[in-house]
Amino acid sequence: MYSVFDLGVGKPVSLDVQELALLVKAMAFAADRHKDQRRKDLEASPYINHPLALVDVLVREAGIHDHRVMISALLHDTIEDTETSAAEIEQEFGATIRSIVEEVTDDKDLGRSVCKRRQVERAPYLSTEARAVKLADKICNLRDIARQAPVGWELERCQAYFDWAKQVIDGLRGEHAKLEALFDDIYRQRPG
Ligand code: ZN
Repeated sequence: MYSVFDLGVGKPVSLDVQELALLVKAMAFAADRHKDQRRKDLEASPYINHPLALVDVLVREAGIHDHRVMISALLHDTIEDTETSAAEIEQEFGATIRSIVEEVTDDKDLGRSVCKRRQVERAPYLSTEARAVKLADKICNLRDIARQAPVGWELERCQAYFDWAKQVIDGLRGEHAKLEALFDDIYRQRPG
């Protein structure tokens, strides 16, 4: 083992050197792919803040230390939102990471309303790892919206996003109690 350290969640964490290296590689990869993108908040924050926020929720708030989940969280928007292919993810990070990232990737060619419906339909069939990434993604998105509505979003759109996110999450409950509780906490701050 390369190192053992406590991340403030009450138990020691160990990653072997290959896992740690792959995690750092995913950070650098995601930072590079998202480098020209900004979030939809007023400050137009750097996009990379979002995947980093997911990992923070997973590791420090939910105590999830599976490196495959952490790496997939870092990469979760690269296929959907950047010029990154699934084959490239497999080449750089292996078939397991590719499969988790693909599970949480929307096919944007289908249009927004179809993508949203498909997320609800697919939620019950997600792997345990993909469920964790999906929960962290929705937690972070709801927290961002609760803090400040995205530019151009009316109250109704924020409320509709909260309700849709809950429909997705309700379809994948039962495997990640801590993350589900964090989701329920933020859902209670539904705007309006
Ligand atoms: Zn995301």
